[in-house]
Formats: sequence, structure tokens, C-alpha cells
Amino acid sequence: MIRIGIDLGGTKIEGIALDAAGGVLWRERVPAPQSAYAQTLDAIAALVQRIESGLGEGGSVGVGTPGAASPVSGRMRNCNSTWLNGERLREDLCARLGREVRIANDADCFTLSEATDGAAAGAATVFGVILGTGVGGGICVGGRLLAGPNAIAGEWGHNLFGGPRGGLAAGRACYCGRSDCVETWLSGAGLLRTHREIGGGCPHECGPTESGQPAGAAAVATLAARGDPAACAALDLYADQLAFALAQVINVLDPHVIVLGGGLSNIERLYDEVPARWGAQVFSDVVRTALVPARYGDSSGVRGAAWLFPLLP
Ligand SMILES: [Zn+2]
Repeated sequence: MIRIGIDLGGTKIEGIALDAAGGVLWRERVPAPQSAYAQTLDAIAALVQRIESGLGEGGSVGVGTPGAASPVSGRMRNCNSTWLNGERLREDLCARLGREVRIANDADCFTLSEATDGAAAGAATVFGVILGTGVGGGICVGGRLLAGPNAIAGEWGHNLFGGPRGGLAAGRACYCGRSDCVETWLSGAGLLRTHREIGGGCPHECGPTESGQPAGAAAVATLAARGDPAACAALDLYADQLAFALAQVINVLDPHVIVLGGGLSNIERLYDEVPARWGAQVFSDVVRTALVPARYGDSSGVRGAAWLFPLLP
């Protein structure tokens, strides 16, 4: 049987079909209907139907979503695609597709993908981290997603960040209503803000820099590679902060592997600099936790959605 994964993003819906070995049989992206729940269901159903008729075979369907279903009401919440909030997405898809459908948060799907056949394959305990527009996470134990009574396992992005700020002001407001969440410092926007506050200016269109103008937080890494002092200082602080925040997780979970995904996971120096620094905050004489980049990059979310129906024993 094939496994179909659907990644329900804010601007696109991606579908994938995997064979039993994780080989890709089908991959397709369609625009995500905006502010339209019924059309979102239609688009997912049409995508599944095209995959199954194209391959001549039925499959299981797993869906990765922003936010998560409330464990009490079953209704979606915390979705930045706000038209999903309040809807019973899983039940509606089950009815539409006529089968059991599993859904999970996109960071959980990322973690499951990397724990199943990615950079953390075979590791007993895996903490998967998304460092991008937001900061999210998921936990796999024994190859299975950890799911607790609040459906928030791994959501470290809204813990209070109590680590080094390099002299920058505290009090960064978070969309969740609190201040100085980990996400306000370690997301792409957080890194850009740090760079700006250090004095580097915006590294793309809207401010002065001494060198090129690439867009996004990755631009800070590009500038640092060219020796831009403010970018170097911002990334140095970012590595300190990531080491601090991950050390808090290590002290609680003691994962064998931490896998980084999202746009900021492409900053190569993190994989040396963060493990070199996190020991100061970990309650152990040695830290044997591995910090690795995702194997499947941007495809991990949709692959993990497919793996919500796990390998048969
Ligand atoms: Zn927050």
C-alpha cells in the first residue's frame, strides 16, 4: 500500500506518495485556497484523488497542519492559516475521503520524518526543531511521536527565553501574548531584529549594509561569511542563545539526537558552535547529544505526514 502525505501550508498544499521503503512515487504542489475552508477540503480531496488514480492504487492519508487540533474539542487552533481555526479538520477529511485520516502539527511531522528515515533514523529519542518563520518542535521516542494530554509536546518556542541577550533590550512581544518567548529571539525575524539592534541595519532592502542585499534571515549568515562585523556579532549571539535554549530541552528530555530544520538550519556554523557552547548549561559532565541538519530539508514535513501511518512491523 502507498502512503500519502499532505502538507497543508499557508500558501501551498503539497502532496507526496511514498512506497514502503520511503521512495517518492508522486509529488505535487497546488496553491492553498486563501480564507476558504470548504475549498481547502476540496483541494486536498482532489489532490488525493489525482495521486491515487495516477498510481492506480489507494493509500493511507496523513496531513501535516499548522497549529493542532484541540485535544478537548477536536477543533483546530493556533493555525496561522486562520481559516482553519475552529474547524474539525480531521473529521471533515475522514468524511470527505471515506477513510481514517491522521493529522499532526507540521513540526511533529518534520520530527517523525527525520526519526523514521532521515538524519535521526534509529535514534531512540529525537527532538526535532524548526527554526524559521516561527520556532517549533516535536519529540519522537522509539520512532513514534510523543503525544500528551495537551497536544503540545515539543513546543519549546513559547518557553520564556532566559538566556544571554548580548546587552540588547528584553521585552520582545510575541504574538502569543507573552514577551521574550524563545521564538522572539530564535526565529528568522528574531535574528533579523538582533542584527538590526546590534547596528547592522536591515540586511535586505530597507537599510544600509556594507555589502549585498539578499533577503531574509539567511542574509545575516551571508553577510557574516563576508566578514560583516554586525552580522558576525548577531550570529555569535544567536549561537549562544540557541545553545542556551537547547540546553534547557536537553536537561528535561535528554534526547540522543536534535535535528534542525527550517530556513535557519542552513547556517552551517551552528552545528559546531552550538554543541561547543551548550555544555555550560547542561547538567552533565559530558554532552553526547548529536546536533544535525535535517536530511530531507523542506520535504520533511510532507514525508512525515505520510509516515503518520508507520511502517508495518
Ligand atoms: Zn510566544
